[in-house]
Amino acid sequence: MTKKSANRKIGEEALKFLDKHRLDPTPFNYGFAYLYFTGVSGSLRKAVDEITDGGIRIVQRDVEELMGSTSDVAGTGPSAESDERSAELRKQALLFADLTARTLHDTASFNRDLSSSMDQVNEGHELGSVVRAMIDRTTQVEGKLAEARLEAERLRQDLEVAKGDAMRDGLTNLPNRRAMDQKIAQAFQERNAVTLAFCDIDHFKSINDRFGHGVGDRVLKVVAETLNDALWPREVARFGGEEFVVLFADETPQTAFAMIEKARQAVAARQFRVRETDAPLGQVTFSAGIARSSTSAEQALADADKALYEAKNSGRNRTICKA
Ligand code: GH3
Ligand code: MG
Ligand code: MG
Repeated sequence: MTKKSANRKIGEEALKFLDKHRLDPTPFNYGFAYLYFTGVSGSLRKAVDEITDGGIRIVQRDVEELMGSTSDVAGTGPSAESDERSAELRKQALLFADLTARTLHDTASFNRDLSSSMDQVNEGHELGSVVRAMIDRTTQVEGKLAEARLEAERLRQDLEVAKGDAMRDGLTNLPNRRAMDQKIAQAFQERNAVTLAFCDIDHFKSINDRFGHGVGDRVLKVVAETLNDALWPREVARFGGEEFVVLFADETPQTAFAMIEKARQAVAARQFRVRETDAPLGQVTFSAGIARSSTSAEQALADADKALYEAKNSGRNRTICKA
């Protein structure tokens, strides 16, 4: 079987697979099924086979998880291991996509050259020079493949660097705790005081428990975006799992309170739905604690955390200001 017809067969199998599992034939899903049928990724094959064992249908969420749409989640909680696997898969998918596209392109042009060479043979050209031309072309293709591999390796390294971005949270793209600690320390140095808010999503564990980590991750992303939009240009960071810290500039604690309340209402007003089933997720809320300290940045964080604890204990979905 030629490479082209082998690829076509994989493509057909991939489409049949999507149909059987009632998955939309989007490029993303097609890429996933294609990757599965190539067997290039042993771990993906194993994971899909485990899910579909006994005729069980694979659902969109599984596909997204396996393809690594959730792979940048901070390595917290029980999903760290599967996140690592997803990240690895995503890398492989990218490598594979890159390599296949180029190989397909080159194979097609090689085939065109080949057939024109055959025409030349029929026209009575010296067989020797035609074969030499074919060998040269093969060597070129091989060279390009080696180049593509090198390029894929470079891509993998870029991904690594992006993943290892020491200052940004991969899931929400917000500054991470390390970045925020620095910003807070700097703000304190500049002003000899600092005002902060600690925001923590209410009953977030139950979202994971009821709808899965993929949905939990998407909720985290939306909450992060909403906070960032509502509070811009103040710094918002993902401080930990479902916790965000906001650094205020010269606002009074009263203004900070009003701003957090606005953000809180913006999150509470959002109608979250499960993408696959369109089922409502129920209201998502957060609680917040605000504090100001002229003693130290650590003190401001500790006091804001205490205020948050109070907000949780007095019923959640509220802000308490200790400044
Ligand atoms: P509370 O209202 O008291 O804050 O309750 P909670 O359920 O929000 O708090 P708890 O600390 O019990 O649970 C936080 C959960 O957040 C547990 C953890 O698995 C989950 N989590 C942390 N990081 C991530 C993440 O990156 N993605 C997902 N999906 N879940 C995460
Ligand atoms: Mg928490
Ligand atoms: Mg919480």
